[in-house]
Amino acid sequence: MSEPPRDVVVVGGGVAGLTAAVALADRGLRPLVLERSRLLGGRARSWVDDVTGDPIHIGPHIMLSQYQNFLALLDRVGTRDKVVWQKAPEFITMVEGQREVSMGLADLPPPMPFLPSVLADKSVSLADKLSNFRLTAWAMTITEDEVLALDDRDALTLLREMGVTERYIERFWSFVSMAIMNVPLEICSAAALMRFYRRLVGHRRCEVGFADGGLGDLFAPGSARAIEAAGGEVRTGAAARGFALSEGGDVEGVELDGGEVVRARAVVAALAPQELLAIAHPSWGSLSPFADLALFEPCPYFSTYLWFDEKLTRRAFWARVYDKDDLNCDFYDLSNIHRGWEDRPSLVCTNAIWCHRAAGLSDREIIERTRAELAEYLPRAATCKLRHAVVNRIPMAIHCPKPGTESRRPPIASGIGGLYLAGDWTKTGYPSSMEGAARSGFLAAEHVLAQLGRPERVAIDHDDVEGFTRLFGRVAAWRRGLSRELATT
Ligand SMILES: Cc1cc2nc3c(=O)[nH]c(=O)nc-3n(C[C@H](O)[C@H](O)[C@H](O)COP(=O)(O)OP(=O)(O)OC[C@H]3O[C@@H](n4cnc5c(N)ncnc54)[C@H](O)[C@@H]3O)c2cc1C
Repeated sequence: MSEPPRDVVVVGGGVAGLTAAVALADRGLRPLVLERSRLLGGRARSWVDDVTGDPIHIGPHIMLSQYQNFLALLDRVGTRDKVVWQKAPEFITMVEGQREVSMGLADLPPPMPFLPSVLADKSVSLADKLSNFRLTAWAMTITEDEVLALDDRDALTLLREMGVTERYIERFWSFVSMAIMNVPLEICSAAALMRFYRRLVGHRRCEVGFADGGLGDLFAPGSARAIEAAGGEVRTGAAARGFALSEGGDVEGVELDGGEVVRARAVVAALAPQELLAIAHPSWGSLSPFADLALFEPCPYFSTYLWFDEKLTRRAFWARVYDKDDLNCDFYDLSNIHRGWEDRPSLVCTNAIWCHRAAGLSDREIIERTRAELAEYLPRAATCKLRHAVVNRIPMAIHCPKPGTESRRPPIASGIGGLYLAGDWTKTGYPSSMEGAARSGFLAAEHVLAQLGRPERVAIDHDDVEGFTRLFGRVAAWRRGLSRELATT
């Protein structure tokens, strides 16, 4: 006799899949999570370095105080106190050689919190700074529809059209595009960048947090415990190779690599786009969103870890001023982040973003270039002893948000009965990130509950923008409404 169908199968044990499964377990379902890797956590996983015994992440990550859904998951699994928050008002320190420019958030109504830091930066003229004003005023008023209408063009073209000077583009926007969007401006969707900018200038408070220990330890073990405590199951080393379909074409289960078929009342595919494409049913090839999956090109990273034998800095987090010929973007000294590590020598880790431009480099060359870039800021890095080094080559951190992709981020309902999508790249209204992934997981849980006849709100909506950004947005909406009314009378 065949086994009764499971409540729900979640394919993928990253942030999105685990968030969905925990939310469903908390509502009385017994999810089965299938994760291909031996380690849970996906692109936010971590492990113990076998030479030093230190926890290291796939690559250093930051969290923001606005990560409402991801932080809700941490609350649920009891690890929110494992986030180390940078002390306000510090946001990020930009370094150029040994010169530091600190970008902090002043206690002013949005969009002004960054204004004092921007005005204090002597490397850009006032005229260049003012050239960004028109764009900022406009970004404060744009609606989601207007954002999506920008998706057919690249961000560099938009900035130039809006009169931002080349110097301001080079100094500010090139960094934001690479650090947040993970691609250069000329291939970044203007929609993706403007949606992020509206949020950046829309909030009074934005703190940066880091994991106190392994990143995956923040959410993976606690999620597995919560799922199993509810009678669910988490299988690692278990890859799905396809979906089982009913005669009517709905998804009614998952087929595993060994041939086992697990039937379920609902399936959540919490996978990256290329991974979903690999197991999608051939008959879906011309259907949206499956027909678009190949457009979501992976953005590769190198993350380098350097164990020095002395303390190089007391700073926790900084980034290089953008230069297209640089390898690394952001730097972290874990000895100044992890609690109780204050007296340890520096363990510096870095992210080289969109790194296929340096794909031919050997690990040794990456380590040498990383050390040389670090030494421009902290000269002792060139001469003190390097005890150990690791390079993680990561095929995909997020998808490249190229023009055309922002409007193709798919909804959670896949269009195929019984199949729901989750993942940082789905339509969450947020950039691809741990927050986007957690929100998509909660949204997928909502869809599964609705299918089972138990509708409930689970995901947390992001706080609306505040201060003058909100006021300007409302005035602009009122003016748009008025013009529409006048046009029809
Ligand atoms: C180096 C680096 C730095 C980053 N920096 C930041 C940052 O600072 N802040 C931030 O918020 N985000 C950052 N990100 C992005 C963030 O990690 C991701 O957005 C997030 O983890 C994506 O989660 P996900 O669950 O959507 O996807 P994934 O984590 O990719 O989860 C998908 C899971 O599915 C599994 N899988 C694939 N195929 C199958 C199959 N056939 N069967 C079963 N399982 C399968 C995979 O192994 C994986 O575990 C960074 C990412 C990297 C790599």
